Amino acid sequence: MKKVTWNLQYNTLPAAIRYCKKCSEKAKFTCSEQFRVNAQRKYLDVWLIYKCPHCDTTWNATVYSRVSPQSLPPDRLDRFHCNDKALAEEYAMDVAFLHKNGAEAGLPGYTVVGDSFAIGENVELEIKSAYSFPIKVSALIRKKLLISQKAYEKLIAKGGLVSASGQDLRKCRLHKGITLRFLEFPEVLINPLQSV
Ligand SMILES: [Zn+2]
Repeated sequence: MKKVTWNLQYNTLPAAIRYCKKCSEKAKFTCSEQFRVNAQRKYLDVWLIYKCPHCDTTWNATVYSRVSPQSLPPDRLDRFHCNDKALAEEYAMDVAFLHKNGAEAGLPGYTVVGDSFAIGENVELEIKSAYSFPIKVSALIRKKLLISQKAYEKLIAKGGLVSASGQDLRKCRLHKGITLRFLEFPEVLINPLQSV
């Protein structure tokens, strides 16, 4: 069986969905990729700053609260001070970090990187993500292989697509990854470009 790997490449950070007092409604706060550091004599506070896209209200997501500066990993404080992009991404892409701060996590923008193939080939497909997000597997596959919702459902109903771990491919979400098997099914031919 042919093996294909797809990797998710993220191109935007997820929004932090929370109530904006000024807008009086839930808003998708965007990550500024800037940290705010407040160093008192003994204690340190660090926040990652988000902004409401409608009214520019800022919201600080707590990274560290009243910790001793010595307790941080070496050089981390410098990275906060210089708004290290990779470090900001590490926090912003962490769903648990947003939950801890009382916000829901939106979905980041992504591109699927990997080889495409024709429906009807025997292919074992592994989809991998460096970060855990509840992205719908069906949407991801349909986008990459250019198949309609109807064609996708037919493929599953006819046994032409199964999950290696028995998950329901109509509903399941990606998180860190999934392995799928596309199988030949001669009785049904689907034109991959046919969209309904
Ligand atoms: Zn607002």
